[in-house]
Amino acid sequence: MYRRRLYPSAGLLASFWLACALYLPTAYGAEDAVGGFLQKLRQRVASNKYYWDTTILNQVDWKTQGQSVNGLPLIYWSCGDNSAANRSLVLSVVHGDEITPLYFGFRLVEYLKLHPEICKDKLIVIAPVVNPDGFLRYSTGTRTNFNKVDLNRNFDTPDWRTDAHRLWKSNHKSQRRYFPGDQPNSEPETKFQVWLINEFNPTYVMSVHAPLNFIDFDGPIGENA
Ligand SMILES: [Zn+2]
Repeated sequence: MYRRRLYPSAGLLASFWLACALYLPTAYGAEDAVGGFLQKLRQRVASNKYYWDTTILNQVDWKTQGQSVNGLPLIYWSCGDNSAANRSLVLSVVHGDEITPLYFGFRLVEYLKLHPEICKDKLIVIAPVVNPDGFLRYSTGTRTNFNKVDLNRNFDTPDWRTDAHRLWKSNHKSQRRYFPGDQPNSEPETKFQVWLINEFNPTYVMSVHAPLNFIDFDGPIGENA
């Protein structure tokens, strides 16, 4: 542990040891990795002046499933009944330069914590930041992950091997921001999404995108949506 040379008062010294005693049990655990990650997000929100209420970036009840390419935790939260027939999965920030879905994902978790009756007889799983490296990269984030792969084009679909690279060249002129990867399902953030789908078997999947910096809902509307 790093210690500065200083001569604190007895009160300060007591506070220091108390802080250490509270801190050390989780110092090297997954919880600490999540805490450090949330702190990075709060710093990004402050430095880019998004003017969000950063209390939504709370270190409460997060579960993790693996890490991003650059070692950040891949987090999710769930509420409700794991045997329910109505099962929803919300994926946010698949593209790291689409900023508002981060607020949407974390805010939705806080809203459901305040209104647990919404989760009754349902299962709701939320992964508020699927692509943490992309969100934190450079000064304003990047669409792709740390390997510069477009996670939305990296799923192992039946036509990936025949069409993914062909369409990338013809439709997107081989722009790196649409690169589907050298292989399907090659990225940990893609595997994270596949794991969530296999683990929770959702009846609804909502992937939140905002390429124009507002939430674009192009799904069905109504009771069964
Ligand atoms: Zn997108």
